[in-house]
Order: sequence, then structure tokens, then C-alpha cells
Amino acid sequence: MSNFFDTPIEYLKGVGPAKADVLRKELNIHTYGDMLSHYPFRYVDKTRFYKIREVTPELPYIQFKAKLVDKGVVGERQGKRLVATFRDDTGQMELVWFQGLRWIDKMLIPGADYVVFGKPNYYGSKANIVHPEIELLKDHRDELATSLQPVYNTTEKLRSFFLDSKGIMKVQRQLLSAAYADIRENLPLQVIEKYKMLSRKDALMQIHFPADARMLQRAEARLKFEELFLIQYKLLRNQKERKLKSKGFMLPRVGTHFNAFYKEKLPFELTDAQKRVLREIRQDTVTGFQMNRLLQGDVGSGKTIVALLTMLLANDNGFQACLMAPTEILARQHFDSLTELLEGLPANIRLLTGSSRSKHRRELQEQLADGSVDILVGTHALIEDAVKFKNLGMVVIDEQHRFGVEQRAKLWKKNINPPHVLVMTATPIPRTLAMTLYGDLDISVIDELPKGRKPIQTIHQYDSQRLRLFKFLSEEIGKGRQVYIVYPLIKESEKLDLKDLEDGYESIVRAFPRPEYQVSVVHGQMKAADKDIEMKQFVEGKTHIMVATTVIEVGVNVPNASVMVIENAERFGLSQLHQLRGRVGRGAEQSYCVLMSSHKLSSDAKVRIETMVRTNNGFEIAEIDLQLRGPGDLQGTQQSGVLDLHLADLAKDQRILQEARACVQELIEDDVNLDKPENLPLKNYLKSTAKRSYNWERIS
Ligand code: ADP
Ligand code: MG
Repeated sequence: MSNFFDTPIEYLKGVGPAKADVLRKELNIHTYGDMLSHYPFRYVDKTRFYKIREVTPELPYIQFKAKLVDKGVVGERQGKRLVATFRDDTGQMELVWFQGLRWIDKMLIPGADYVVFGKPNYYGSKANIVHPEIELLKDHRDELATSLQPVYNTTEKLRSFFLDSKGIMKVQRQLLSAAYADIRENLPLQVIEKYKMLSRKDALMQIHFPADARMLQRAEARLKFEELFLIQYKLLRNQKERKLKSKGFMLPRVGTHFNAFYKEKLPFELTDAQKRVLREIRQDTVTGFQMNRLLQGDVGSGKTIVALLTMLLANDNGFQACLMAPTEILARQHFDSLTELLEGLPANIRLLTGSSRSKHRRELQEQLADGSVDILVGTHALIEDAVKFKNLGMVVIDEQHRFGVEQRAKLWKKNINPPHVLVMTATPIPRTLAMTLYGDLDISVIDELPKGRKPIQTIHQYDSQRLRLFKFLSEEIGKGRQVYIVYPLIKESEKLDLKDLEDGYESIVRAFPRPEYQVSVVHGQMKAADKDIEMKQFVEGKTHIMVATTVIEVGVNVPNASVMVIENAERFGLSQLHQLRGRVGRGAEQSYCVLMSSHKLSSDAKVRIETMVRTNNGFEIAEIDLQLRGPGDLQGTQQSGVLDLHLADLAKDQRILQEARACVQELIEDDVNLDKPENLPLKNYLKSTAKRSYNWERIS
């Protein structure tokens, strides 16, 4: 019965086509297997009945017994609702429905006794329950009630098909009693034994119907492990396969391009970390297989020069290279700084962005096709099918998280063999996340800043201390430095934000009057050309202050800027704050980051600001970000689909992830194709789920 889990859910006793249809539409549950992995999202003590007097809005799900004393539909249109009052011997409470009014109204019999189950909310200062589950007391059977009864996510639609949490519980019970004997193990036996884990069938049984808290915990641990194990297996197997299969171009020669730059032009000595990463890249590119490497380095750690040297290495071996950046500003800036670095050298470097003119494009296309362009810098305009290289051998992607997987995959097809890929990210990613999101990439880390940098000092100030801030800024400007002042820009309220920025701009111009001071301004609603002009003025030191929204977040490099003021700092996420701070501290001067905020701070905002004040270490900040926000919100995770985890939480389950990955590594070393008898359960399981799983190929 290998396909038991693929059985359509409608074949289960008590489900049938109509319920199956809503389950598919509402919860994406198609099969027995899908149903079993619709895990409870919490458990409640169903052996306990509360008294109405005891019920407070702070309580989680609860149940009580009470009599229906009154009911009626009130309100109009959106506000239309059914309100029913229930009473027991300690007090009374209102239950409210906004949907399915007619149907529920019919069920409610005044004077009858009910069992009510739900999550109390605030209603003014009192408690009420919106959309509770109710059942006539005379129909209530509680012989199955346990202290850990599952509560399932459901929807109003499902409820009207009798699939409220309790209805789903019944389906699960039915399914488990039918399926239990057929649930096969999918992990290798030695792994189960090593970690003394529950078998798969017991874990599934216990997660839905735990015998006690300890069993529940073991069930969760087992299923989390399984989830992470399967992901890691797919990632690491892919990596191994790709290493063995995808032929890569050989770049054995360090020739004139590389050497001329390294010996004559390199303006500083590379840090040990930069040298190490270059060695890693060189090793990758002489194996005959395609390189897929993630380069992580904190802001300012000097990734650009590594990218350049890598591209020159490709040039030396007769290949073209490209560098792709997420925004026009950044692409341009890379182009400008690389052009400057390469001045006097024969490398032909060109720029292509969305706003490149068609004449320029045509000319460029020709030069790309005849091989006379060595390095092409650009935005995702590079990916377009019309852009054809003669011989693309190296692709560098900056700020990788801004590109989707598909976009990246297109680059692979730009040559007979896939070009080598170096993906750079300036937002350090916590280890566990990197292992999962980029588990099939090799990872290099630049964990050292260039010598002579003074750590940026970060200060938190309240809005009321603005005069002090202005005094400080004028002192810095007096020393010849430049200043950024950044305002938040959140899409939903762009207008409001723009107003903040405009008001801020005006007060700054008042405090820093012309002609003594010059102020630039850049925001998302400006034309690209105007942005460029303003930006350029600041880069060239013609203006002292740059007032901007977060468009300057990524990569902008003005070494003479020594102060970053972030307005409404409480509205920014940690990684964004860190990115912004990274715009200063790029020269030899002492730099500062000033976080301005109101006095009203949420506890998370406090942690973010305190973290920024305490540390400059991007990896540490990334870990805290992960703890605060959970992986779902971190950059890059949404696009990947890799984090479609039911149970495991990358912030909390780091240990399990590490164990799972270590097990998989051993397994892959030992038996990559799962031919040994002890690995057969896994092999069979993967086969049976293959058609449902993601396309794991070419995720980089
Ligand atoms: P990021 O890693 O954030 O992209 P960049 O590549 O923009 O950082 O480098 C930041 C600054 O540090 C640049 O001005 C660059 O020229 C400089 N830099 C890079 N490597 C070194 C080094 N080894 N020694 C001194 N300065 C360096
Ligand atoms: Mg950079």
C-alpha cells in the first residue's frame, strides 16, 4: 500500500466529495497524507470546564457549559452579526458570529444548555468569544476528552461543513485508526536508534492525540527532525549530484588581467579573509565542475574587490563575466567604481540597466556577441533573453536575496555549460538559515574588516534631543565630513512617509541654511535621472547632507560620510538598520550612527535598538533578528519555498537542524543513492512523494 498516503481524502469514511472539496480549497488538503500533516496548532484541556466568571480575555482556548438566554442579529452590512447571550450560575457572556448567521441562528435554541468552546477576546473591558464552537449539552460526549485535546486551524467555510476543529479531530481519528498499521517508517533505522526517536506512526499518532506532554514533545521532536532531515537530504544530494554532473568551465590560468590589476592597481592589501575566499574560488574553478558559492560578508568587508578579481580570473581564461545588482543605483555605482579600479587596464567593462537606450543596447549586444565585452555590470536587465554572450563563464550576483530563484536560473542558460556562480550577500544570514536556504551552495565567509577601520559608534537619541543632534552634525560637517539622514519608507503608507521626509527636509534646510550648507535629497518617487544627479553631488562631496529614504540602503559607498542618522528607527527591522549603518565607517575617520526614536517603543523595538547600540557584528545581529522575527520574515525566505515547514522552527530548532544535517552528511557519504537495505525506507518514501515535492533543481 505504498500509495496509501496519496489516497484522495474523499475516500475516507465520513468525508465524501463535498467535504473533500472544501478541504482542498480551504486548507490545500488533497490526500490522506496532507490530512495527517495538518497538525494541531495547539492543545487544550478538555477535561476542564470553566465558569463564566473565571473567563478572561487572556486565557487561551477554553470551554464552559451555559444556557442560551438571548439571541439576535444586530448591525448593518459589514458590522452585521449574530449575538447570543449565555448564562451559567456565575455570570453571563456574549458569543458573536459574523458569518454563517442564518445557519447558526437556526441551530441556537433559546433556553437550551450548551457546551461552548473557543478563544476569549476583549470586548471593551469584558470578554466575549467570536466564532466559538458550540454543541448542545445533551449531545456532548466527553468520554474521549483528554487534557491535551488537539485544536486545528479551520475556516468559516469548513465549519459550515461540520469541519470545525472538532470535526477535523474526528477525521484525524478516523484516518489514524484506518492508517496506523500502514504508516511506514521513512528514516533509516540507525538514525531512529541513534536519537531514540519515536517511530513515524507513533509520532503521527501522538502529535494528533498525545498520551501526555512528554509523548507530545517526543512526537514533535521526531517530526521536526524528519522535516529537516528530508530538506537537508534533498539539498545535499542535489549539491553532490550537481558537483558530479554539471560540467564547469576550467579557469586554471592566472593571467594578465588578474595580475596587472593585482600588482599594479590594487589600492590596498587584501585582508586574510579576502585572500582565503579567493583561494576557495580558485579551487572551485579548476575542478571541472560548476561553482555555486555563496559569499557572506558583513557590510564594508570588501566583497566587491573579491568579485572583481574573480571576474578578471574568468577573463584571463577567455571567458566573459557579469555582475548583477538589484537596483539601478547600485549597478551604476559598481560600474563606476570598477571602471575606476580598472582604469588603464585593457578590460572592457560595460553597463546595462533597464534605462539603457536602445541604441546603446544594440551596440552592446554586438560587443557581447563578438566577445569584446569582458565584464558586463547591470540590473536584472542582464537576464533578458535578448542579452546573449559569446562565452559567459562567471556570474556574480550582489545582494542575492533580491533576485528570485527563477531569475537566477535564467543565467544558467547563457552558455553551453552553466557559468560559475558567486552569490554575494551583505546581510549576514544565521547559520541555520543559511544551511536551509542555501544548503546546496558552498559557503565562504569574510569575517574580518579591512585594517584601520574604527568601529562605528552607535547612539540612541529621543526625538526631543534633536537640537543636540543638529549641533553634533554641524561639528562633523565642520570637520569636512558628510552626513546621511534616512527616513523610513514603507509601501503601504508611501504618501505619509514622503510627507515625513519633506517635513524633515525642510527643518534640516532651516537648521543648515544655504549657502554655507548644501543638502541633497533622494527618494523613491523621483525620476532615476534626478536621483542620479542628487546622488552624484553627494558622492562628489558637493553636498554635505543627504536626506533620503531607504533607497540608499544597499551598497552606496561614500567613504567621506561619517554620520548616519536614522529617523523613526523604531520602524526599521534589524537587518535594515544594520545595512544603513554600513553606509558609514567606510573611511579612516571615526563614524557614528544615530538612531532617533520617539519615547514610545515596543519591546521588540527596544531590543532592536539596544542590539544596534551594543554590537557591530552582522552575524550576531542576524541571529537576534531571527529570534525576534522568525525565519518567515527574513529576507529571501519567502521566495524560496524551502521554508515550507509545518513544525520545525529555524529560530528555535537549531540543534535539531544540526543533528539532521550531520546525519544526512554521513548518509550521503556512505550511500548517496540509498541502495543499502537499511536506507530503503527513505528511498521508497522519497519516490512516493517525488511528484508532490518542489522542483529542487537549480535553486541557486
Ligand atoms: P561590501 O562588502 O559591503 O560590498 P565594499 O566592497 O564596498 O564592501 O568595500 C568597502 C570599502 O572597503 C571600499 O571602499 C573598499 O575599497 C574598501 N576595501 C575593501 N577591501 C579592503 C582592504 N583589504 N583594505 C582596505 N580597504 C578595503
Ligand atoms: Mg557591496
